[in-house]
Amino acid sequence: MALSEEAKNGMTRREFFKNSAIKGTTAVALGAGGMAIPVSAQPGKSKQISAKTITEAARQTRVCRTADVVVVGGGPGGIGAALAAARSGANTVLIERYEHLGGMGTGGLVTIIPSMTDIHGKQQIAGITQEWIKRLDARGAADYPKKEHWGSRDKKLVEYYKNRSPFYATGNSVGYSAHIDAEISKCLFQDMMKEAGVKTYLHSWGTEPIMEGNKAKGVIFESKSGRQAVLAKVVIDSTGDGDLLPYAGARFETHIDKTLRSANLSFSYWIDNVNLKRYEEYKKANAGALAEKMREVRKLGGTAGFLTSNLRNQENVVWCFPRYANKSQYDVEELTRVEFLGRKEMLITHDFYKKHVPGFEKSFIVLSNSQLGTRGGRRVVGDYVVTEKDMKTKTLFKDTIAIFPNADGKNPLMYMPYRCLIPRNVNNMLVACRAFSSDAVINDTFNLIHHCVCLGQAAGTAAAQSIRSGVDLRKIDIGALQASLKKQGVILPG
Ligand SMILES: Cc1cc2nc3c(=O)[nH]c(=O)nc-3n(C[C@H](O)[C@H](O)[C@H](O)COP(=O)(O)OP(=O)(O)OC[C@H]3O[C@@H](n4cnc5c(N)ncnc54)[C@H](O)[C@@H]3O)c2cc1C
Repeated sequence: MALSEEAKNGMTRREFFKNSAIKGTTAVALGAGGMAIPVSAQPGKSKQISAKTITEAARQTRVCRTADVVVVGGGPGGIGAALAAARSGANTVLIERYEHLGGMGTGGLVTIIPSMTDIHGKQQIAGITQEWIKRLDARGAADYPKKEHWGSRDKKLVEYYKNRSPFYATGNSVGYSAHIDAEISKCLFQDMMKEAGVKTYLHSWGTEPIMEGNKAKGVIFESKSGRQAVLAKVVIDSTGDGDLLPYAGARFETHIDKTLRSANLSFSYWIDNVNLKRYEEYKKANAGALAEKMREVRKLGGTAGFLTSNLRNQENVVWCFPRYANKSQYDVEELTRVEFLGRKEMLITHDFYKKHVPGFEKSFIVLSNSQLGTRGGRRVVGDYVVTEKDMKTKTLFKDTIAIFPNADGKNPLMYMPYRCLIPRNVNNMLVACRAFSSDAVINDTFNLIHHCVCLGQAAGTAAAQSIRSGVDLRKIDIGALQASLKKQGVILPG
């Protein structure tokens, strides 16, 4: 980073050294790449070590940036949050652990955005998700039913779309769901961040919030450049798993009924060069034999079934995403176990398909997920916990910041309150990702890509508004927030 730029944004390296020397608090050594390593953090210095714990010495950490808003996690939630905050005038920093943006929607190989219309074919999800699809569309990198067909109950049309993708027609009408390109999305997201002026750090793990009592003041992150801090007026946890919550003193829930989809981890991979025409012909003529083969592959430890890509020129790609029961979705030993198992079973599956399933003879594994499929990590306990009862009673909250359509005809619309983004008893912090405050059923039902983009868009807009107006996140003018969201193309009641 150029010194002039560094100087604008927190303590420079020179100041860091000078400051340390003046205060005499910490002697500093230079590590690899000129990285500052406080003596207290050097190997062998000031640590108490027992077989069970070590006591780490206090250390000084360089502030590399001072911002209005810092967002940790660059998945759907974080993208919505960072873009909305920056576009609403906040000086915004985004911290992402991997080398790309998009979270599960790119690195997790999850490339379907379902149910953006309600059961009548009325669009309910727009805002940043719609902008993303429009940009993909301009490159031929999205596929979805024609707008004039949304809501159609014409039997032939419904059949046509059902054959193209099970997501294009649910029940007996056509809806708006999109298949998207993961690689192009990565490129578009970085363009969108740059255009909005978001300072993005990739390859950076957000490790803990900086807390003063119950007030969040910024975030510490680790990378090849060492341990650094971003100070900010509002911290947004968009890690998906609520990684910052335990260190912020926030309450969170983890229990998920084992029968729910979100209780499972998934290992996703794509198989390319599949002759799907040949496969479909075989399936049609030999349904019983294929079912028997699927039973066999499962017995061997492999996976039966897949989804197709639907994108132009990707007609030969299929997506497999076997599910894995687990003890915890944020325990590193469990994550490692499932990665190993997933890769082992991917080979079993592909070997079997190649040998025994017509259409797969010349196929190959083209890609496996760089982000393991996690649906259910921590869920924050917020100022409001959204429950299944709210869904069933169709509660229309005064602070509604998003409407989520549901393919389920019984509960077709869910309204999301702003309060489900605010961690109880913690100030200056929002949670904008699948860790939003909800019971396990609601989280299982409304934990999709576009839902998280919506929550992020609301959180980023609210954070900027709170800073601009000098009003606490809990006390902002909800009418003004809703008006800003509508201006950004978000669909809200009324
Ligand atoms: C197998 C599977 C299939 C799915 N199918 C669909 C589907 O078809 N359609 C759909 O809409 N949804 C689907 N989902 C759900 C969808 O993927 C999620 O709802 C969505 O990705 C959640 O977005 P998020 O931003 O909350 O979390 P994530 O997508 O997990 O993004 C979190 C981001 O934060 C980063 N991060 C995490 N921790 C840290 C840290 N400590 N420091 C820095 N960065 C960090 C991650 O690298 C990631 O980029 C599926 C999920 C799975 C697992």
